[in-house]
Amino acid sequence: MAKYVYGFEEGNKSMKELLGGKGANLAEMTTLGINVPPGFTITTEVCDEYYKNGKTLLKEVNEQIYTHLDDLQSKMNKMLGDKDDPLLVSVRSGAADSMPGMMDTILNLGLNDESIQGLIKKTNNERFAWDAYRRFIQMFAHVVMNIDSKKFEAVLDEIKQAKGAEHDSDLNIDDLKEVVEKFKGIVQQEKGESFPQVPTVQLDMAINAVFMSWNNDRAILYRKLNDIKGLLGTAVNIQSMVFGNKGESSATGVCFTRDPATGENSLFGEYLINAQGEDVVAGIRTPDPIQHLDSKMPHAYRELLDIRKKLEKHYIDMQDMEFTIEEGTLYMLQTRNGKRTAEASIRIAVELVEEGLLTKEEAILRINPNQLDQLVHKHIDHKAKSSTSSIAKGLPASPGAAVGKIVFDAHEANELMEAKADEKVILVRVETSPEDLIGMNAAEGILTSRGGITSHAAVVARGMGKCCVAGCGDIKIDEENETLSVSGITLKKGDYITLDGSTGEVYEGQLALQDPELSDNFAKIMEWADEIRSLKIRTNADTPHDAKNAIKFGAQGIGLCRTEHMFFENDRIRAMREMILADSLEDRKKCLAKLLPFQKKDFKEIFEVMTGLPVTIRLLDPPLHEFLPREEDEIKNIAEELGVTADKIKSKMDDLYEVNPMLGHRGCRLGITYPEITEMQTRAIIEAATELSNAGHKILPEIMIPLVGNINEFKHQKEVVLKTADAVMKESGTTIKFLIGTMIEVPRAALTADAIASEADFFSFGTNDLTQMTFGYSRDDVANFMPVYLQEGILEYDPFQVLDQESVGQLVKIAIKKGKSSRPDIKLGICGEHGGEPSSIEFCHNVGLEYVSCSPFRVPIARIAAAQAVLKSLHFTALDIESPCNCNPSLVTSA
Ligand code: PEP
Ligand code: MG
Repeated sequence: MAKYVYGFEEGNKSMKELLGGKGANLAEMTTLGINVPPGFTITTEVCDEYYKNGKTLLKEVNEQIYTHLDDLQSKMNKMLGDKDDPLLVSVRSGAADSMPGMMDTILNLGLNDESIQGLIKKTNNERFAWDAYRRFIQMFAHVVMNIDSKKFEAVLDEIKQAKGAEHDSDLNIDDLKEVVEKFKGIVQQEKGESFPQVPTVQLDMAINAVFMSWNNDRAILYRKLNDIKGLLGTAVNIQSMVFGNKGESSATGVCFTRDPATGENSLFGEYLINAQGEDVVAGIRTPDPIQHLDSKMPHAYRELLDIRKKLEKHYIDMQDMEFTIEEGTLYMLQTRNGKRTAEASIRIAVELVEEGLLTKEEAILRINPNQLDQLVHKHIDHKAKSSTSSIAKGLPASPGAAVGKIVFDAHEANELMEAKADEKVILVRVETSPEDLIGMNAAEGILTSRGGITSHAAVVARGMGKCCVAGCGDIKIDEENETLSVSGITLKKGDYITLDGSTGEVYEGQLALQDPELSDNFAKIMEWADEIRSLKIRTNADTPHDAKNAIKFGAQGIGLCRTEHMFFENDRIRAMREMILADSLEDRKKCLAKLLPFQKKDFKEIFEVMTGLPVTIRLLDPPLHEFLPREEDEIKNIAEELGVTADKIKSKMDDLYEVNPMLGHRGCRLGITYPEITEMQTRAIIEAATELSNAGHKILPEIMIPLVGNINEFKHQKEVVLKTADAVMKESGTTIKFLIGTMIEVPRAALTADAIASEADFFSFGTNDLTQMTFGYSRDDVANFMPVYLQEGILEYDPFQVLDQESVGQLVKIAIKKGKSSRPDIKLGICGEHGGEPSSIEFCHNVGLEYVSCSPFRVPIARIAAAQAVLKSLHFTALDIESPCNCNPSLVTSA
């Protein structure tokens, strides 16, 4: 017969899927000889069956439950419902992934009008017994019978008021008896039946309720928010009760074997004397720090320290434990790998290696790469965050946190900053354009209601390391009246908001922020990762400042310098616009001559920062619409500059209008129609390189042609580049070695990569456009439908964040295979945003790319992810770790 129920002595920690995390670890502790109150676990498979069978339990399951109950009764030498010495049990949920507080728990089960007399006799503590009974009735009635808890609270408050009692603990035995009677009355009134008195009926109803709680609204939401998928359901743990509320020699508490916020190697936690588990989390009484237990109950405290050591050594990880002390005897009620901050995660991993408990490889696998964002950016103080709720959630476009006054206009943001250096503003726009750069630069953070993770705002903000929440469709932004509204709240210019760019959350008001810190432990773990990884990590950087930052984080070159981003600043954008709007070759050349010095200066500075390292410079790829003027004033200025009328400019703008600019006149299409642009850029690159080379720097330029889909496009641009470079080198008398390659970002390029590789020195996968064109989703408009797609499960993840290996990945593989067939030593890398995403980095490692390139702040993430990719391919495992969290590691009794 199938086994549906396991005694704690029959399971172990590897059985999490079947017994749930709580059940498996209670079993493991039992086997380790730790003092765990006896009990048994109904498996998660039963939960699955329960739903499949129309929410009923199979007969065999019930038989096994009652066989185990018999065993438990003989082990404890107590009977459920006994009038002399009753067994009381807890009935708790526990899935394979922990879902703290999301499912149901029932304590003190087995109490009724008879067994309470037994409890009084046995404990010699009448007040305790009546207190336990009233707690049980309230919990059972609420959780199992769905009666609103407020009804019980109201009665309790009434009685407290009548008796002049401030706290529950001020009520005497008679008061509590009255509470019990009234509570039973509420049940009768609400359900038309009396409170169930038969303990086995109570047990059946409680088991049923715990299974039902697997699919309550908050559990479903929690699983969605935490991406918990593929579980069978919850297990149910039935365990004999121990009491922390039996007087001054009893206590209950929660503790972590190391500090979950800092990682410090000391016991961290709190406890309450004379209390039950839920009192610790309810916040009615303030718990004491765990260290105080040493003076109150030295024996139990020393035992707890021994268990801490034993469990850490056994699990080789920081543990989150729950305990109860009943009349001086310590019982362990739970252990699990504890959730922790990024800082703690790194410190614990490094120190476990130093303590000889972990290898470096295992330590690397313990790190959640994405969590490192917390360390390189400001973040919202954990306490501040947990004490409030967000008003909206958009896409986590650029990590970090920012607090500031709302400003709806980029220039105003800049003016406010210039007028008062410590003024902090958040730029709020429906979407951003290059014109907004000045405000993005001045602002602490950026919030947009439109645009995806690869939209202009997101890409630019990430490069700057500036916090950005994009595509926050819930928020209605009225730029004209300078208000934003969301779920009944309207905020105006000057009101404060706080952004969390790592989660996409928006908060009203000013939340406290914490500064990033790079510790020695961080450096150590990075060093270990570098010893292991084979992928090189480059950065996407468009300015010398970004390049320097990236070097600080360990970048090994630039994989993408977007030259159009160099023209975002005020005086440059004007020159760029003039060039775009110029009507004749002559005018355009004039404008390009103005742009040349800017480009050359930037290239020189970037090359200098990257001396000895490769720098991939991509020729101009501006979606033209992003550069066109929008405001009348600007149109007038350009007209004056070009010596034409404003109407002429407007008519030129009409000519340039594109229905679908992202698929329009951009990339190499621009260089082919206006080769003089390619000439200017090549000249700027080669002049910068020759001058620096003459000054003794080792310069390794790689010139990259964007948006190639056809070999003839590449050939055309290559010829212009080579001809111009030759001319510049002749003029300077210096020869520079450089590569000419292409982005692979158009599906046709991937499918004809053999032909392209016969001409190109390298490929860099532009997976932003490749995703856009493979899916047919506009990069800038995904916010309109992506949240629904994710919610409905149409897509498992946003393909602009996580590389879709099934489709885009397949194109990458085809391009690699074909490319290598005609040029075996072709250099291969990736520079789309996926180059900084861990699962995509693993893919890049597995398909044999030489490097990934990502924004400067993601370089540490990529270094760890690249090392993890090697380890995973060698079948190292991360042991049984709890995924780290950036939550407040507050003391939570779990379900
Ligand atoms: C890409 O398309 O992946 C890419 C890196 O280019 P951009 O984002 O500038 O279009
Ligand atoms: Mg692109």
